Amino acid sequence: MKLKEYREKEGVICPMCGCKRHYWKQDKQCFECKECGYRQSLKANTVMHGSQLPLRYWFITMHLLTSTKKSFSASELQRQLGHKYYNPIWAMLHKLRMAMGKRDERYNLRGMVELDEGFFVTEMPEEEKGKPRKRGRGSQRRSKVLVMAETAEGKPRTPKDKPTAVRHIKMILIDDLKAATIDREVKDNINPDSTILSDDSTSYAHFKDIVATHIPKVIPKEDVGKVLPWVHVAISNAKRLLLDVYHDICPKYIQNYLSEYCWKFNRRYFGDKLFERLIITSINYKNEFRYNI
Ligand SMILES: [Zn+2]
Repeated sequence: MKLKEYREKEGVICPMCGCKRHYWKQDKQCFECKECGYRQSLKANTVMHGSQLPLRYWFITMHLLTSTKKSFSASELQRQLGHKYYNPIWAMLHKLRMAMGKRDERYNLRGMVELDEGFFVTEMPEEEKGKPRKRGRGSQRRSKVLVMAETAEGKPRTPKDKPTAVRHIKMILIDDLKAATIDREVKDNINPDSTILSDDSTSYAHFKDIVATHIPKVIPKEDVGKVLPWVHVAISNAKRLLLDVYHDICPKYIQNYLSEYCWKFNRRYFGDKLFERLIITSINYKNEFRYNI
């Protein structure tokens, strides 16, 4: 079984005593701690923890998720797997997306980082239904997302320059556009020795105290894609991807879709190694996914 090999390579840890040495019980298909005798299944303490779905489903899904640039919906996957119920399939996809997000949380952006906000259309939140509709950026149907892109060249850009190559990106759902909210995310996601390139929004006034250099620019609306090319390429690609596959995304789950988009983008040169990377991502994350639908 491949999963056993991957788990052994990544290191099986006993949740009871922390011991890292285990016996493999072939008859029970589980690991037994050499110290305290605690047994755990192949799925235990991974993204598959507690899942009733067959391992085969997880592997097919991971393969599908990594073999196409596009994403696919839970109903499409349900059809492909021929499974009777929608909810467990839907939850499996979200657990995998969440694992992708957790994996990327381990890495910070560094060097020259473009930063801007993106607004993604989502379902009207339950608590806002019946309230007066707000327009534009403050609309209840727009989820606010902080988008950051690490560019390969350490040079500030002007509208005339060609876009430089991009390395890693991050997209983080935020509750509001207040400076304190954005500052916290910048501290958590960008190395302090970096340079941030952004527009001159007052929400960004403290960046100069958080990172080495902040270059705020007055950017006319029509030039924003030229001065901050990668954040805007990422935003429009992510929007197109979500529109193609999903309708009316619940604001509660949009982070998971964005995490999937970023995880794949950040590994776009991995080629056929991507499937293996998703297995490793999945076994190193014990799912905390809770859903209520
Ligand atoms: Zn133990």
